[in-house]
Amino acid sequence: MTGIQMDSLERLKQHFAQRVIHQSRQLLEIWQNLHSTQWSVQELVNMKDATQRLLRYAERFEQPVHLQIAQALLDNLAAIEKNGNRLNSGFIETMTQLLQDLLQTGLRQGESIDSVFLPPMVRKPLYVLLQDYEKAAHFTQQMHSFSLQAEVFHDAASFLQAMAKRHPALIVLDVDFSGAGKGLQLAQALKDDYESNVPVLFYSAVEADAHVRLAAVRAGAEAFFVGELDAATILEKVEAATRIAHAEPYRALIVDDSRAQAIFTERVLNSAGIVTRTINDPTLALTELLDFDPDLIILDMYMPQCDGPELAKVIRHNDRFVGVPIIYLSAEDDLDKQLDAMSEGADDFLMKPVKPRHLVATVRNRAARARHLKSRIVRDSLTGLFNHTHILQLFDDALLRAKKTAQPLSFVMLDIDHFKQVNDTYGHPMGDKVIKSLALFLRQRLRRTDSIGRYGGEEFAVVFPNTDAESAQNVMNDIRQHFSEIAFPAPTGDLSCTFSAGIVQYSADMNDIDATQLAGYADEALYAAKHAGRNCVKIYTAAP
Ligand code: GH3
Ligand code: MG
Ligand code: MG
Repeated sequence: MTGIQMDSLERLKQHFAQRVIHQSRQLLEIWQNLHSTQWSVQELVNMKDATQRLLRYAERFEQPVHLQIAQALLDNLAAIEKNGNRLNSGFIETMTQLLQDLLQTGLRQGESIDSVFLPPMVRKPLYVLLQDYEKAAHFTQQMHSFSLQAEVFHDAASFLQAMAKRHPALIVLDVDFSGAGKGLQLAQALKDDYESNVPVLFYSAVEADAHVRLAAVRAGAEAFFVGELDAATILEKVEAATRIAHAEPYRALIVDDSRAQAIFTERVLNSAGIVTRTINDPTLALTELLDFDPDLIILDMYMPQCDGPELAKVIRHNDRFVGVPIIYLSAEDDLDKQLDAMSEGADDFLMKPVKPRHLVATVRNRAARARHLKSRIVRDSLTGLFNHTHILQLFDDALLRAKKTAQPLSFVMLDIDHFKQVNDTYGHPMGDKVIKSLALFLRQRLRRTDSIGRYGGEEFAVVFPNTDAESAQNVMNDIRQHFSEIAFPAPTGDLSCTFSAGIVQYSADMNDIDATQLAGYADEALYAAKHAGRNCVKIYTAAP
């Protein structure tokens, strides 16, 4: 085969492979819709159709991972069909997991494992149209450090040709591309003539006046940069523009001594895509709370072992669960008693018999609000990563699970090298930019199951479940390498930064150890890395 034939064959393959991705997205959308409505047989049928189509495409275009996931999805759907199309928590959780895998699955075969874990946003290219070619090349290189593909265009015609073939995640467009004000016109034409809704970020080499900025807004500008293109900001935009909201299903813990009542509640909630767990003995509530980590609790008022308000008090006495909404579901119709019960820290009171629609709406609203509040409590505002307290909490939880399942667990602490100098030389805002970029970089390159936190100023922590220290070290070394290649544009010449990291692995022979002790060991390893000359990753080893 000649080079040209190979090339067009490859392109054809790529083109068709896009269909696999498209079909995956379709499937995700159907699934997402189901979370805001009630399930019906028809929706399950749609789900099955879409999955079968995915299976066929994956077969035809030789995408083995997609094929495998599609098959597992069909098995799961078949199981539910056997169950009279009645949903249950296991089905919802399996579905969520498989769709998450699908979302994370890359296109081509033979991709290295770390790129398979990259989110899909990084698979769509950016189109870059800058008047200054050197700047465009520089920018492209920066994007490359963030694993983003960027294609540079030098004239409008080739750009439009590319647009006809494939839409990018985002367009970076010089307002003066191919002539004064011509970039703006191009954007306007895209909107009017090509009905494109790809987000456009405008760039201007010189300060732009109000007219230009207004024209940019009218042409659909998502942002406007003057002088410098800020990689971190652009990345955030790409992420926002291409994110498929992949919501975790809500989780409700049901505490009710009556099995019949609990089964009814479960069915109603399950059919709305809500995962449930039931306990009939309220004295087990605290253990289950820790294990199940629900978004909210549905509580019966009267139970033989202890009544609802007592249990609510016990739950509220635990700092961990202060924010988890408690909803009573009870036949009690005495308003005074309802109010008494509510005064013990509950959030709502639903009277039996409750209309399914009403129950579902209440659970969804309360859970959504609780999640929102929680995310504000547990996240760091500069980076959006988990804060110090919460990452330690997550580490603690992961440690508990590792002990139970006898799986390895790694914890990493990392610290930017000579960061004080960055602040001193380039100013505090530049320091902030570096911190934000590293946060974004970690989010991009780690798996969804890894938890990332901002431990302190320029210190970060990562929890790697089911991972031994060597694997964590490989991942961190890869990230370290790529991070050091990022050039942050600065007036006095580009800035690049490195970091050092320390890793500790929990293993079964450390049975009694707690998270704080382990974090201390990771810190020791980090100190060793700094001592060894920085820009390296060390694993903690106990002194002999
Ligand atoms: P080492 O390689 O040993 O880690 O040296 P270092 O200079 O990075 O370490 P040091 O702990 O001495 O300095 C950290 C600096 O980070 C001091 C502090 O002003 C700065 N810093 C902490 N938090 C922030 C922040 O949120 N933004 C910015 N811009 N700087 C911060
Ligand atoms: Mg430090
Ligand atoms: Mg430092």
